[in-house]
Parts: sequence; C-alpha cells; structure tokens
Amino acid sequence: DNLPDRQEAAEFYAKYTAKDILGRGASSVVRLCVDRTTGTEYAVKVIDIGGDTNPNLSPEDAKETYEAAVKEIAALRALAGHPNIIELQDVFFAPAFIFMVFELCKKGELFDYLNQVVRLSEKKTRTIMKQLLEAVSFIHSRNYVHRDLKPENILLDDELNIKVTDFGFAGIVPEGETDVFTDLCGTPGYLAPEVLRVSMYDAQRPYGKPVDLWACGVIMYTLLAGYPPFWHRKQMVMLRQILEGQYNFAAPEWNDVTEVAKDLIRKLLTVDQDLRLTVDQALQHEFFLIKSHLDKVVT
Ligand code: ADP
Ligand code: MG
Repeated sequence: DNLPDRQEAAEFYAKYTAKDILGRGASSVVRLCVDRTTGTEYAVKVIDIGGDTNPNLSPEDAKETYEAAVKEIAALRALAGHPNIIELQDVFFAPAFIFMVFELCKKGELFDYLNQVVRLSEKKTRTIMKQLLEAVSFIHSRNYVHRDLKPENILLDDELNIKVTDFGFAGIVPEGETDVFTDLCGTPGYLAPEVLRVSMYDAQRPYGKPVDLWACGVIMYTLLAGYPPFWHRKQMVMLRQILEGQYNFAAPEWNDVTEVAKDLIRKLLTVDQDLRLTVDQALQHEFFLIKSHLDKVVT
C-alpha cells in the first residue's frame, strides 16, 4: 500500500518506522512515522520520483517532481525557525523516493477542522488569521511568496496553533524586485485576479507577494462564513467572479459579523494588487487590535 521499497530507502527505515497515512498530494503520500530510538512521532512526506520501481512516471515527470522537491526543501530551509511555519526535521534521498520528515501536526488540516465546526467565531478567526499573517510576513521578509495558501495547507498542532505547510509552489522574489511571476499555479478558488490575468488572459504585468494576501482574504472569508467567497459549479464563471472581485456579505451568516472584520476582508480581496493591503499593513488592521483591547479590560 504505497510503502516504498525498504532496500532502496534503508537509511530512512533504519531511523524511522512508517505508520498510517495522514494525507495525500499529487505525487506524495504523507504518513505518521516514529523515530525508532526516541519514540517521537513525525509526519513523513514520501515523494515518488520514479526510477526502476515505478514505470508509471515518465522520465520528464520524474525529473520535474525531483526538481520541485529540491526547491521545496530549499524553501523550507530558508524559512526555518518561525513558530507558524512547519519545521522540516530530516530529509532522505533514495533512488526512487524522497523522504521529508516534518514535525507532526496532530490536529491535521484547518480545512478538516473547519468542516467539523462549519464556521468560526470572530475571536477564533482573529487568532488564526494573526498567526497566518505572521507566517506570511516572515515568508515575504525572506523574499519568498507561498502561492498556494489555503486551509488544506494550514495544519494545526495540539494547541490549535497553525503551521503553514506545502511550499511546493513557493517562489523567490529577487531582492529589489516585486512582480516576477507569470505562471499559473495555486488552487482555483484561491487564485488572485492578477494571476488569472497574466497566465490566462495574456496581460503584461507579472505578479508577486500580493497574491498571498488575496488568498488570506479568501481564507478569512471562508472561516467566518463556512463557505468560500468565490464559487460556481462552472469554473469559468467562478474565475470571472474572481477577476471582477465579485463576492458579497449578503447571506444571514454575515449579519452578526462586525464591520471591522468585513473591512479587513474587503482590503484583502481588493482586485488592484497595488491597493491591496501588504502583509504588514494587514497585521496593523484594527481587527487585530480588538483582542488586546479586550484582554486589557478582562484581566
Ligand atoms: P502536497 O504538496 O502533495 O499537497 P502537503 O505537504 O500539502 O503535500 O501534504 C499533504 C497532506 O498531508 C496535508 O494536506 C495534510 O493533510 C497531511 N500532512 C502534511 N504534513 C503534515 C504534518 N506535518 N502533520 C500532519 N499532517 C500532515
Ligand atoms: Mg498540499
């Protein structure tokens, strides 16, 4: 059941025991694993890079997958040390597999947590968004753009602290530059308008860090409402809604949400990337000042 050949991966298996599957991606399986000497649990992302044992992966795909994994590992190392970014513990290269050993997030994806509770209170949303934006601030300050922020790539530890993960699409913005990307990557519902414009409609202007803030806006809306801001069963219609920034706070769910929260969402889901809040501006938004104010009153 997707367990890599032991001979090939001897080094990994000498140190860890692999257990249940925690999640899957396009070319990876993530399993619980246990350090044989310390008994500490981790999550291992096993990436299939082809080789003789897998005839299903073409040499081109294998090379592409390998190179993407190497980039992901470089991003994780460059971004190590932040409490809200997943920690890469160990890496093993075997002929047909790459093993990436991560700190374990026992509570799984924010996506599943949200599905269980349906929607979050403003207080919980504040805690999660603050941590998310702090992670993004760190990522951007190190000249990286995540490019695939969504609740599936935000994990929760025992104390419900978030850990941003999946740097498979992370890109580097060279020092002194801003907009450098033109490729379509990410997940449809979370794509910023400028990504669609340049990759699908041949606009001239590349995109950069602001795409992560757009995704944060989509996430914040989804946390508070329990459903996403842009959705249509016909994907082209949904993409059109995104390009036009067409979403609303009309449903009854939004009646008891404060104007301050809606204001932050509006300033994140701003179609013009030059007018959208930067991550540090978002962290200064009034929405995040409410908590410290209340804390002072209560304690
Ligand atoms: P992909 O790049 O293939 O999407 P991810 O890194 O996003 O791979 O991992 C896929 C899934 O595996 C995640 O969405 C999550 O459900 C699970 N997962 C990944 N890392 C961990 C971890 N450290 N702890 C717990 N579950 C994890
Ligand atoms: Mg993922």
